[in-house]
Amino acid sequence: MTKPMYEGKAKQVFATENPDELLVYFKDDATAFNGEKRGTIGNKGVLNNKISTFFFNLLSEKGIPHHFIKMLSEREMLVKKLDILPVEVVVRNIAAGSLAKRIGWEEGRKLPSTVIELYYKDDKLGDPLINNYHIKALGLATPEQVETLEAYALKINEILSAFLKDKKLELIDFKLEFGVHKGEVLLGDEISPDTCRFWDSETGQKLDKDRFRRDLGDVEEAYQEVLRRITGQ
Ligand code: ADP
Ligand code: UDP
Repeated sequence: MTKPMYEGKAKQVFATENPDELLVYFKDDATAFNGEKRGTIGNKGVLNNKISTFFFNLLSEKGIPHHFIKMLSEREMLVKKLDILPVEVVVRNIAAGSLAKRIGWEEGRKLPSTVIELYYKDDKLGDPLINNYHIKALGLATPEQVETLEAYALKINEILSAFLKDKKLELIDFKLEFGVHKGEVLLGDEISPDTCRFWDSETGQKLDKDRFRRDLGDVEEAYQEVLRRITGQ
């Protein structure tokens, strides 16, 4: 196989014959706590590719512009090549993870209003929390781009939360990445149990990467269950 143009923690990215398009290969590798914890989750690449494909298609129907073109195989998707903005956008509906810790709330407490957080996408620095002033001062994105990605993030939250509620899944929080393609800001990367927290609406069972982070077991089964619920397969 040809060498990837980029090898990340969960995916490999390959150039294609078309300079405007990339091939993304989803691996089973899993990392947490800034790469300190490493492992694999059986079949994760296949499940995340299918789950992301499903969500990108759902967002297309609702008018959110994104990089996804088509699924090429069980582990591969074809996407539009983006200049990724080095700003990770986290949207939160319910306190969990790092936010619960930072503000001293117990996990599971509903936030009275949606919270957006911005993180500097830089592995060496451990993706620190930043704000609009840092983004402007560091030139990570223009104020207009930040406005656009926050507006998309809120809209995506509404679309996904409503869809998942019907499937008896609560969207606790999630992370998005955006990039620029031919001058336009598009949603990129993936939407999967690696990048979202999904809790069963009735039992509160965690159906996401926290099962790996916290050694809760049945990790593959949880990802499989998310795919089953959203696609009905
Ligand atoms: P990480 O880099 O955090 O280890 P991954 O293993 O998921 O993450 O690697 C995928 C990489 O590809 C990420 O750095 C992501 O920003 C980047 N990426 C995602 N979608 C696109 C795209 N359409 N164009 C260019 N790069 C992309
Ligand atoms: N997240 C992610 N990649 C990151 C950091 C966070 O996909 O590098 C997701 C994570 O899965 C969760 C949300 O963003 O759905 C908020 O994560 P949090 O800040 O609570 O960090 P964590 O405790 O998961 O490290």
